[in-house]
Amino acid sequence: MLASGGERWLMARHDAEAFHFPDRFDPIPGLYERLQELHRVGRERSALDLVVATLRRDGRSAAAFEGVLLLCSGRTAGSGSGVAEPITSEQLTNPYLAPVATECVSCQLHWFSSHILTLGQRMAVSNPIGLQCQVCRYTLCRDCLAPNDRDCPEPGCGGTLGTPVLPTGRPRRQPANRRVGDIEYVLVLWEGTEPDQAEVVGLLDLVCTWQDRSAARVTLVEDPEVRKAVGEALVHREEREGRVGLRAFERTRAVLISNPRTGKRRVLVVAGDRSEPGRPHS
Ligand SMILES: [Zn+2]
Ligand SMILES: [Zn+2]
Repeated sequence: MLASGGERWLMARHDAEAFHFPDRFDPIPGLYERLQELHRVGRERSALDLVVATLRRDGRSAAAFEGVLLLCSGRTAGSGSGVAEPITSEQLTNPYLAPVATECVSCQLHWFSSHILTLGQRMAVSNPIGLQCQVCRYTLCRDCLAPNDRDCPEPGCGGTLGTPVLPTGRPRRQPANRRVGDIEYVLVLWEGTEPDQAEVVGLLDLVCTWQDRSAARVTLVEDPEVRKAVGEALVHREEREGRVGLRAFERTRAVLISNPRTGKRRVLVVAGDRSEPGRPHS
C-alpha cells in the first residue's frame, strides 16, 4: 500500500525555495498607490527600488511580492526603454526578488510570471517565456523546451509542462550566509573602482539577504589584492580596539564577489552577538 504516495514523497518539488502566497493578505498601507503613481510616470526603477526597500525592512511580505510581480512580469532588463526610468538588470537579479522568480532548470534563466496573481480567473497565456510542470513545478524556458514533448522530465512525475507558470524561487541564488539573524559589522575590501553607496547597498543585499542590518557599521578599505588575510586582520583589530563585540572573528564570514564592471570585492560579514548559528533568520 502507499506505494504511489511514497513515490510522490520522494519526487523532487521544484518550488521549495519559492514564496507561497496565502489565499488572502493585507495590503501595505499606501504601497500600491505609490507604485501605481511611479509606474504612471514611467519611474519603474524607483518603483522597484521602493518594493525592495520594503522587503528589506519588513521581510517576506505577500503585498510587497505582489508588487514585484506586477512590476517585473514579462520583463527583461532594458525592456520598456521608452520610459523615464526602466528597470535595470541589477534590479532583476536582486536576491530579495528571488522567492517570486521562476527559474529554468536547464539554463538558469529566470523571469517573473504574474500567473499566480490571476489563478482562478480564466486566462489565455499567449507566448509564455517558459512552461512548467503542473505537478512538481519543473520549469523550462522557451529555448530549453523540446519542440514536441510536453512530458515532465522529472523522474517518476508523469506531469505535463504547461501554464500557469508559478514562482520556483532561485535555488542556486541563496544568500551567502544563511545562518545569521542580525549583522553587526561589514568590511568591504575593494580593488578597481571604489564602491559607491548604491553598490554597497547591492553588496549588502547579496550577502545579508533577509538579515537585519539596520545596526550594522560598514567600512570600505582599498586592497588591490582583496586578500582574505588582510580582511581578517582588520576584523581582529576592530575587536581588539573594542569597535566590535568579543569573538567577532568567530562570527565572521568572507565572500568574494567579482564584478566585471567595477572590480573585485571581498565582503566580510560579522554576525551579531545574539545570532544563533544554525537557525536561519526569516
Ligand atoms: Zn532555459
Ligand atoms: Zn513534474
